[in-house]
Amino acid sequence: MTVHVIGGGLAGLSAAIAVAARGERVILSEAARHAGGRCRSYHDGLLDMTIDNGNHLVLSGNRAVDRYLRDIDAHGQVTGPDRAEFHFLDLQLGNRWTLRPDDGRVPWWILHADRRVPGTRLSDYLALLVLLQRHPGRRIDEVVRRDTVLWEKFLRPVLLSALNTAPESASADLAGAIVRETFARGGRYMRPLVSSPNLAAAFVDPALERLRRDGADIRLGRALRAVRFADGRAAALAFDGDEETVQPGDRVIVAVPPWVAEKLLPGLIAPQAFNAILNAHFQLVPPAGSPAMVGLIGGTAEWVFAFEDRLSVTVSAASDHLMDMDTESLILLLWRDVAVVHDLRGPVPPCRIVKEKRATFAATPAEEARRPAAKTAWANLFLAGDWTDTGLPATIEGALRSGNRAAALALGGV
Ligand SMILES: Cc1cc2nc3c(=O)[nH]c(=O)nc-3n(C[C@H](O)[C@H](O)[C@H](O)COP(=O)(O)OP(=O)(O)OC[C@H]3O[C@@H](n4cnc5c(N)ncnc54)[C@H](O)[C@@H]3O)c2cc1C
Repeated sequence: MTVHVIGGGLAGLSAAIAVAARGERVILSEAARHAGGRCRSYHDGLLDMTIDNGNHLVLSGNRAVDRYLRDIDAHGQVTGPDRAEFHFLDLQLGNRWTLRPDDGRVPWWILHADRRVPGTRLSDYLALLVLLQRHPGRRIDEVVRRDTVLWEKFLRPVLLSALNTAPESASADLAGAIVRETFARGGRYMRPLVSSPNLAAAFVDPALERLRRDGADIRLGRALRAVRFADGRAAALAFDGDEETVQPGDRVIVAVPPWVAEKLLPGLIAPQAFNAILNAHFQLVPPAGSPAMVGLIGGTAEWVFAFEDRLSVTVSAASDHLMDMDTESLILLLWRDVAVVHDLRGPVPPCRIVKEKRATFAATPAEEARRPAAKTAWANLFLAGDWTDTGLPATIEGALRSGNRAAALALGGV
């Protein structure tokens, strides 16, 4: 059996790894000259250094991430504090705080005023229990109170970055999935982890290495242009310049973005609204002892990440206003926040802005309802991607799980 995996983002890579590990033949075709998709690193000419397209955070409770990193022997490339901790700065009030949830399931920390978000009450936290239940089709603002300090100073920023969607209009079920899988399980599952030194070193290069070791055929720069169907199956794959017959018994895993999948697969219903993410990479060595990540309240920058050779800013669900702003003004606006976080004076360091317009699908109930299952109308063709019906928002965890699921279906007989 040959399994054709189309798309070398994390969904395609995880599917390919799962199939190749079972000794089946894999042909991985990726349109770009590099793998990684929306989770990639590249050498930036302006800064003359390797940067990521965007800062990617995962949590220690992300079980598919954990398994994937083990499979590709890259656990050491993802780092974070030994215990869960989240640093925040309120730019308006000028105060800082650090949340350090207890390791275990019982959140003792919320009983202590000095360990809570400043200005919050115990009852604010209890109100969050509602997110542990399922709320199909409902928005967060229909189930969670938003007139609390906890919403402004913790829930809103955290949900905004996890869902890449204004939390007010986002799906309560998708928010609930994050809460159930990580926060509700205690600090052990909430350690914030980032790739070191970059995304490629953690999630992409070791995956390609593993695939090569397992004999997979990796073809970069090979875009799938059409699928020919016959008798309820995918019968041939038309790439630029060549066509490949899908033999009886072969399988196809389509792990491309939704707007590409819609063109390849007639009748496919997929998310059609997307949100942007804006990143700025400032080239400077962070001051000694800088926290790896600081959440900002009341700024333009939302999170500031400290890497060895750069300070990187993330703005989730970036507005059109920011996306359209000229680069110089944007750099100045974001640097103002970064300089306060790290108490920096002096000239603005060299900076690269990276704008990802369709970073993720909008995590609203309407888009959630458009996410298709991995199984399709064609017996030998399966879907993967963070936008398929994983029950999670568009995240690395969701992408990896979708790849594993498609691989299991492809391996499980048609
Ligand atoms: C700026 C940014 C920040 C993010 N931050 C986080 C974060 O902090 N934490 C987190 O968990 N997630 C984050 N994400 C989301 C995460 O990157 C995605 O969920 C994940 O990478 C999606 O992987 P995927 O394989 O589903 O899709 P993609 O990465 O889009 O992969 C699809 C692949 O298909 C290829 N392709 C397209 N057309 C064709 C074709 N015709 N033939 C062959 N190949 C084709 C593409 O080139 C691409 O490589 C972020 C995303 C962005 C953009």
